[in-house]
Amino acid sequence: MKLFTACLATETNTFSPVPTGLRAFEEYGIYRGDGSAHPEKSLFGPLLGLWKGMAEGEGYESVESLCVFAQPSGLTPRALYEEFRDVILEDLKAALPVDMVLFSLHGAMVADGYDDCEGDILTEVRALVGPECVVGAIVDPHCHTSAAMLEQADVLIAYKEYPHTDVAERAIELYNLCAATQRGEIKPVTRAYDCKTLGLWRTLQEPTKSFVAEMKAMEGQDGVLSVSFGHGFPWADVPDGGAKVWAVVDGDAEQAEAVAKQLSERVVGLREAGVVELISIDAAIDQIGSAPEGLIVMADVADNAGGGAMTDSTFILERFLERGVTNAALGFFWDMGAVEICQNAGVGTELKLRVGGKCGPSSGRPLDLVGTVRAINTDHVQPGLGGSASHLGTSVWFETAGLDLILTSIRAQVFSPQAYEDLGIELAKRRVVVVKSSEHFSAGFGPIAAETLYIDTPGALQSDFKALVFERRAPDYWPRVEVAEPAPFP
Ligand SMILES: [Zn+2]
Repeated sequence: MKLFTACLATETNTFSPVPTGLRAFEEYGIYRGDGSAHPEKSLFGPLLGLWKGMAEGEGYESVESLCVFAQPSGLTPRALYEEFRDVILEDLKAALPVDMVLFSLHGAMVADGYDDCEGDILTEVRALVGPECVVGAIVDPHCHTSAAMLEQADVLIAYKEYPHTDVAERAIELYNLCAATQRGEIKPVTRAYDCKTLGLWRTLQEPTKSFVAEMKAMEGQDGVLSVSFGHGFPWADVPDGGAKVWAVVDGDAEQAEAVAKQLSERVVGLREAGVVELISIDAAIDQIGSAPEGLIVMADVADNAGGGAMTDSTFILERFLERGVTNAALGFFWDMGAVEICQNAGVGTELKLRVGGKCGPSSGRPLDLVGTVRAINTDHVQPGLGGSASHLGTSVWFETAGLDLILTSIRAQVFSPQAYEDLGIELAKRRVVVVKSSEHFSAGFGPIAAETLYIDTPGALQSDFKALVFERRAPDYWPRVEVAEPAPFP
């Protein structure tokens, strides 16, 4: 058997004015044929190595094509997307005949002229390999599940956890189901439902946590091979946006339909749980005095690089300064200029520094501060999700007015307390840590948090889903409309 694999992953915030261009992909490495030799680069790339190991362990041949990832921001330019896609197609042509094709995709990549990059890739691939070859793809649950994705892939699986801690587990399942299909042991049939809902579900919290457990319990029973809940990515104006569920069942379309319907009804029951409850910056500051002893974690959810924000917003920092909040650490501010100035000044130097607020109105105002460079790390790395490493480039600990800021030269969300500790900021001695992240931070910070507060800031990831302005997708979703019945999809 011959396996062909590729990875093309980014999550596109179509409201972001900043294109996801070549440099954004270069930051994480552009690999062709050897991505699996760089497993540390992203959450998505290491799957190629995992599959290669599984295939070779069975004595099969494995051909690896493109492996690229970019930190989310706006649309990918058309020519760049087409170039990446065509590299995959060219490598595939050269590798033919192949028996199995596996993709590590995001599911919410949008390019100029392509609302559904993943569906486009799978359609082109299917045209090349024909109906007999088994095609499988793994996607992030924050995906826009499209008809093309569901129709062209024999097996489509989304990670079940947010934070995404189960990527490898799902990738192993995908390989095993596709290999069994290839051997003729199973005949996967997929049916999906559109839940007509926009939400953001945290799977470490109830009731979503129990729903994940239920989904897992369904698998392997009564011919159910796999079930997925595609939460959707709210900050994209594309026709396929929103929550969908799908069931992959062995040979029985009717049963697949029934299971998908059942899942969609469960998601309707989870609608309220998908509403992001936020408190204002001032309300959060008010709670500092009364919260339990220990570390208060404040999530700046709207300035999350993982959702396409620029991570240089100053709304919380500005209010902390105005209200005299001290003993707090805040990260990460993506500010290459400020990093350069601090590097030039050197550790121990006191200086005037303009921080943040550079990328646009959703970044707030740049703040003119006086402070001291406490530490510099020219190759700062934090543990990412699923054993990956998240590179921050050059990081600076800048102390100002009793606040510890982390400035970075690479835009990234906060995953781990280690990012602060490794620079010398001891969180055990701080009262507050502000993390620019929507939810992934909770895997690392949950265990050390006395209290976690999700803060409402005016940044790029607007959390009032009723108020999102869509031109390209239908407004027939909850909470925009009160009655939005799930429907078979497509
Ligand atoms: Zn995601």
